[in-house]
Amino acid sequence: MIRHNLLLEYLPTVAQERIDTERAYGRRHYRDNRDRALYNKRLYTHRQLLKGLCVLCPKKAWREGARHCEKHRKDMHRFNHESSDRLKLEIFDHYGGRFCKCCKVDLIEFLSVHHANGDGARHRREVLQGKRLYQWLRRNKFPPGFEVMCMNCNFALGHFGYCPHAGKGA
Ligand SMILES: [Zn+2]
Ligand SMILES: [Zn+2]
Ligand SMILES: [Zn+2]
Repeated sequence: MIRHNLLLEYLPTVAQERIDTERAYGRRHYRDNRDRALYNKRLYTHRQLLKGLCVLCPKKAWREGARHCEKHRKDMHRFNHESSDRLKLEIFDHYGGRFCKCCKVDLIEFLSVHHANGDGARHRREVLQGKRLYQWLRRNKFPPGFEVMCMNCNFALGHFGYCPHAGKGA
């Protein structure tokens, strides 16, 4: 009877210890592997660059000193564009929608986010621009005081202090 009780108390501890050990091992194993994988990747990149080859495939770099072949150069370009478009749309959705607050133009190529109380130019020039501003907004959990406007309305507002859409008095 005593043996039985002891065993019951003993077992869960052992089981828990084993789980803990396995978890720790798993984490370490994962970390080691990740470090090794990163190291190998860096080494491979370095070797490819030394040979003047693409870092993603065995083809020749599109020009001397470049990191990618002609095909991967285009892929990276498209990827960068797509990811910054996604970011832009996400930001617009947080600041009133995907259209100009003044003239309702909804072509995202024309739209940008600026400071609502008129010192947008200063804020952008001094702190951040374009993609960097959008990344900053997302990182800072979309602070208030920004709005979506098209280039025309934004320019008119910055240059004349009013947008002709709204009239001089507005
Ligand atoms: Zn390539
Ligand atoms: Zn507009
Ligand atoms: Zn306007």
